Amino acid sequence: MKFEVALLASAALTLVLPAAAAAQPQAQADTVDASLPTQLPRTAIPHHYSLTVTPHAQRLTFEGQVAIDLEVIKATRELVLNAADLKFNSATLRAAKGGAPLAGRVTVNAEAQTATISFPRMLAAGAYRLELAYSGKINTQANGLFALDYKNKEGKDARSLFTQFEAADARRFLPSWDEPDYKATFDLVARVPANEMAVSNMPAGSSRNIAGGLKEVRFQTTPTMSSYLLFFASGDFGRITKRVGDREVGIVMSRGNESKAQFALDAQAQILPYYNEYFGTPYPLPKLDNVAGPGQSQFFGAMENWGAIFTFEYALLNDPAITSESARQSIFSIEAHEMAHQWFGDLVTMAWWDDLWLNEGFASWMENKTTAHFHPDWGGEIERVASREGAMGLDALNSTHPVVQEVRTVEQANQAFDTISYSKGESVIAMLEDFATPDVWREGIRRYIAAHKYRNTRTTDLWGAVEAAGAKGLTTVAADFTTQPGIPLITVASSQCVNGSTVVTVTQGQFSADRKDAVAANPLTWHVPVRASAGGAAVQAVTADRNTQLAVPGCGPLLINPGQYGYYRTLYTPQQVQALATRIPQLGGADQYGLISNGLALSLTGYQPMQPGLDLLNAMPANGSAKVVQRLVGRWDDLYDRLDGNDGPQAAMANRVVRAYGPRLQQLGFAPRAGEPAVDALLRPTLIATLGKYRDPGVLAEAATLFAAWKSDPDAIPGSLKSTWLGVIARNADAATWDAIRERAKATTGTVERTSLYQLLGRTKDEALARRALDLALTDEPGKTISSGMISTVAGQHPRLAIDFVLSHLAQVNELIDISGRSRFMQRLATSSRDPELIPILESYAKASLAESDRKPIQQAIDRIRYESAQAQRIRMETAAWLAAHP
Ligand SMILES: [Zn+2]
Repeated sequence: MKFEVALLASAALTLVLPAAAAAQPQAQADTVDASLPTQLPRTAIPHHYSLTVTPHAQRLTFEGQVAIDLEVIKATRELVLNAADLKFNSATLRAAKGGAPLAGRVTVNAEAQTATISFPRMLAAGAYRLELAYSGKINTQANGLFALDYKNKEGKDARSLFTQFEAADARRFLPSWDEPDYKATFDLVARVPANEMAVSNMPAGSSRNIAGGLKEVRFQTTPTMSSYLLFFASGDFGRITKRVGDREVGIVMSRGNESKAQFALDAQAQILPYYNEYFGTPYPLPKLDNVAGPGQSQFFGAMENWGAIFTFEYALLNDPAITSESARQSIFSIEAHEMAHQWFGDLVTMAWWDDLWLNEGFASWMENKTTAHFHPDWGGEIERVASREGAMGLDALNSTHPVVQEVRTVEQANQAFDTISYSKGESVIAMLEDFATPDVWREGIRRYIAAHKYRNTRTTDLWGAVEAAGAKGLTTVAADFTTQPGIPLITVASSQCVNGSTVVTVTQGQFSADRKDAVAANPLTWHVPVRASAGGAAVQAVTADRNTQLAVPGCGPLLINPGQYGYYRTLYTPQQVQALATRIPQLGGADQYGLISNGLALSLTGYQPMQPGLDLLNAMPANGSAKVVQRLVGRWDDLYDRLDGNDGPQAAMANRVVRAYGPRLQQLGFAPRAGEPAVDALLRPTLIATLGKYRDPGVLAEAATLFAAWKSDPDAIPGSLKSTWLGVIARNADAATWDAIRERAKATTGTVERTSLYQLLGRTKDEALARRALDLALTDEPGKTISSGMISTVAGQHPRLAIDFVLSHLAQVNELIDISGRSRFMQRLATSSRDPELIPILESYAKASLAESDRKPIQQAIDRIRYESAQAQRIRMETAAWLAAHP
């Protein structure tokens, strides 16, 4: 396909690219899968949308005209499509073969988010073009078309526009069949200020100036894709690019931030060829942009719009003034995640939100795999285990759900973006790749992508492809772990050394945090790939039986799940735990972290006393792997928090941590060192924050010195540690200190740094100052998307205070959260609480504010608080006893 480029000199900022890619053969569905859930009658299928949009950024409204080429598949008198917050001016239908236009009457159903267009006579099956003229709202949170305000390079107020459509918000921009299996092609024309840059999925084909200081930018036709992947942005942008083969990768950002985008651009250029090779189908669009937006959302950080990823600045720009080492590493991994979606999600899309995990679990797994491939020194295998632990935290509750779950409402689709879809999905895929072997797994993925490109799939299509590539038995294992909720528990009996092998019986049951007795009496069963090692080669058996006997070469300490690919918990005998504790210094990082986390989880849920868990934790040498130590300091700190109110044991715990890890911090030094390992740069802020929390005099003195210098010079603290050191200060702040941080926040123009400073105001331990932070969040001062983050930060220290505040200002607070994140905000605020008094408060909030179908996240928060408060007293007593016995 060849097209005209009409680029005017005055429109030099317009993004106009040559067509690099030949048109791809594109599959267009001419039937619909009647077995899929839908909110729309299966009477018509859209094939192509031609959309012209004119935003009025200052008035926060826009006008749209769309012509939809569609096929009526069943004679009907009306067409029903999705629309939310749109006002219709006209609706006209023409048969493709000609004839008089038919005027339609539009009836909007706000509740169902649909528009019904009724016609004076029956429409026979066949091809039509439906033309709609309408207007809509520009939101101030990230839903539909939305505005983000910021200070530009010159310090002036500026506003850029972006879109965010997943799961079900394309309908706020475009009346459409807004469900993932209605794939279509899109032509977008945008009328924007002549001095702005407009960006969409495809490169601009042409741009011309029109009346009113505007220009009309015509983007090339997209490939066949789901409506939630459409993207549009316009603003005072800069763009930097690189060629990768015959494709172009680019970062689009607020003008002036170009140098901060180089790290992300390099990552993109590195990852694209790797994915072309891994997926076996080259990236199909001519360009791939990642567009940075100033601000944040309570729902997401980045979105995989095809060819035009959107990422909030804090997750994309590497700013020497504020970006920490962990944020810098996240830039790479978020790029890896969103780019994986360009194939897994965009090119091949789940048929319905039930299979959302196919998108998210896969992209999370690929993100980790890719980051570990390019940055083996970042300790990715520890992150993989951390994802499993995060997933199991939720999956051990009665209110968990299977990876493949039933989604019926828009709200449930939004709620499906949770730890189970992402982290359990990732963990199960890691287990299955290990089961299939990486080569067979990749071959299966290549076949799956090739067979289903431009189409929709279900989970079973993936299993079929990998099994056909050679992974015999994979479907059975995969089905058990994706269609059932929960976690297998492998209980290990006493073992015997027989002829140089460890002979042992393992028993399969189910692990549960809040229904231990019920699941013990009636456990689910899985086909579990159980692996074991005892000093010799590891053995693996896939077992669905209650009891399985293993003969493991070697008679050393018996380790179940070496490598930590298995998604299950392991309950050892006390003797086996003690033997493993002595082995911990010699184990690899993933096994160290996995074994210790497993032990702590069993202790915290009451499957065993605290002592074996603490013994394992204590066995990790303080001078061991920086990445493991960084994670384990967090585990000690979690136990410290559980001792709240028991001053003696809590002080003993703090002393213990300071004594063990203080020397490690001394070795690392308080400031970053040129050329140091990335994992050291990660460990330092963790140690500073934790020791600062325990009021270590050395850390507090350094924080005070740096803060005094920072008050007159914002660059006095190294950027990568700025939020860490200021976090120590903010936590212990008095009113004068708090005011000083606020004044600096007010004066800061960079959105990322400004956001970080406002959030610090919520970190204070002082309740009166925390109240001030909450009050400030409801003013216009922080900015539309910063406020909700301040409330979340307050909840970290003062969950009850934050929740009471939100409940008494619910309508105001809802305006500060994107619509898709609202039903989960309260769950997030409750995360750090173990206070049973919150339970009735959360229950009555759910009853009053959420439909019954949409209460799962709140129920999860309630279940967690209930079981944790039931264990709290035992955990405190046993931990105190352990501390007394280990002075
Ligand atoms: Zn994702």
